[in-house]
Amino acid sequence: MAELSERMRALVQPHLAGIEPYDPNFTPTRINLSANENTYPMPHEVRAEINAALSCVPLNRYPDPMSNELRDELAAWHGVARENVCVGNGGDELLYNFLLAFGGPGRTLLTCPPDFSEYAFFASLVQTDLARVWRDPETFLPDAAALVDAARASQLVILTSPNNPTGDVLPADLVRQVCEACPGLVMIDEAYGEFAEKDASAEPLLADCPNLVILHTLSKAFGEAGIRCGYVLAAPDVIDAFGAIRQIYSVNVLTQVAALAAMRSRAAFGPVVELIRSERERLFRRLSRREFAQAGLVVWPSQGNFLLVRMPGASRVRERLRDEYSILVRDFSYAPGLADCLRLTVGTPMENDALLAALRVLVLSEA
Ligand code: PMP
Repeated sequence: MAELSERMRALVQPHLAGIEPYDPNFTPTRINLSANENTYPMPHEVRAEINAALSCVPLNRYPDPMSNELRDELAAWHGVARENVCVGNGGDELLYNFLLAFGGPGRTLLTCPPDFSEYAFFASLVQTDLARVWRDPETFLPDAAALVDAARASQLVILTSPNNPTGDVLPADLVRQVCEACPGLVMIDEAYGEFAEKDASAEPLLADCPNLVILHTLSKAFGEAGIRCGYVLAAPDVIDAFGAIRQIYSVNVLTQVAALAAMRSRAAFGPVVELIRSERERLFRRLSRREFAQAGLVVWPSQGNFLLVRMPGASRVRERLRDEYSILVRDFSYAPGLADCLRLTVGTPMENDALLAALRVLVLSEA
C-alpha cells in the first residue's frame, strides 16, 4: 500500500497520518465496466442542448454560488421548493460536506456496510466515529431491528438505496423508522435511484421526516460523471447548513449550464435507463444459469446499474478480464464482507456480450 512520506506523516494533522496518496489503479481498457458510469452515448438532442449552452456561457464571471437556475429546475421536477435543494460538485462533495457540517469528534455516523467506501473515508477525515451494522453475509440484506436500534445512539446515518455494491433497495418503512429513531440527520444516498423500481425512493417521506436528506447525482442515470454535479433534497434549515458550509464556487459555470440543459431534457434519458434495466436483468439471468452456479458463481439481484458477483479466484478473474480481454470490472475481494466479489457495471448490449463471453471462458472452461 502506498503511504505518505515520513515528513508528511509528521506534518499532516495527527488523525490523517494514515491516509494513502490517491492511486486510482486505473488501466485504460477497451471496455470499462468498473465505475458504475452510464456507458451509453448521450442522446443526441441532449448533447446538442449542452453544447449550445456551453458555447455561450460567460467565463469571466464567478458562478452563481447556489446554482439557482438549476436548483429551480430540480425543485420543480421533484415537486419541492428551491429552499429544499442544494447543488454540489458531485455527490461526493455533498457527502463530505454532510460529515463536515454535522459530524466531528464525539459524534457517530451509522452505516450499513458493505456500502460505498467514501462514507467511512469522509468520516475519518473529520474525526467522526463509525457505528456499523453489517449486512447479512449471504443475502447482504440489512438487519432492520439492529439498524433502528443503532440509529438511536447515532448523530448521523447514511444508508444507500439501491446500495452500492449489493444492489438492494431499502424499504420505505425502515427509512421512516430510522428517521424516527435517529436524534440527528439521516441521509439516504439514492445515487442509483433512477435504475430502481418506480416506488423505491424515500422521497415521499421528506414531507413527514424533517431529519431526512436525499442524495442524488447526475453521474449515473444521466451519464454525466465527468461534469461533477449532485444535489440533496431536505428541509430548508438543513439546506441552509449545506449552503453555509460549502465552498461558494465549487459548482462552476460550465457544470451549471450543462446540468441545467441535461435536466431540462431529462425525459430523453428514459429509454437509456430502461435499456440499462433490461440489460441488467439479461445479465442477471445469464449469470444465474446452472452452469455458472455449478462453477461456484453467485449473483445477487440488483436495482442499480451493476451486479455483484462472487466466484472462486475473483481477483485472478478480474486480472485476466483486464489483461486478456481488455475489460475492466471492480475488484471488491479485498473489502471486508466481500471476499471473492467483483462488481460488474451494466454496459451496452455489446459490452455485456463481451463480458459474458469472457466470463464463460474464465469461469466455466477453466474452472
Ligand atoms: N453515492 C454512491 C453510492 C456512489 O456509488 C457514488 C459514486 N460512485 C456517489 C455517491 C458519488 O457520485 P458522484 O460524486 O459522481 O456524484
